[in-house]
Amino acid sequence: MKDKELGNREKVMKCYDKVLVKPFNNPHIRYDYHTCSTCSNYTYLSFISCMTCKKAGCTHHITVCNCLNTKMVLNTRFTEKELTETFIEIEEDENTDDGDSEQ
Ligand SMILES: [Zn+2]
Ligand SMILES: [Zn+2]
Repeated sequence: MKDKELGNREKVMKCYDKVLVKPFNNPHIRYDYHTCSTCSNYTYLSFISCMTCKKAGCTHHITVCNCLNTKMVLNTRFTEKELTETFIEIEEDENTDDGDSEQ
């Protein structure tokens, strides 16, 4: 999931000359606050939005509208670093489930 997320971000960055990367104003905003205008899914980790028409959608669509030469904004809940750290923590938590945890 993390690799997919970062891969999508990378694709978006490559498809446009200029992408403004912008962290969420409120990183603790509800997961269902932003929805995609294309597929109506929740865009929990990140979403792209068009500066011209303000439409927003999942990063994997690469585009959200038909505006030409627009500036895209990549809105992210976590930075790449935070994302990596967050998922490492989750993986570690899962691994401590079985077996003896001596400390
Ligand atoms: Zn979508
Ligand atoms: Zn647009």
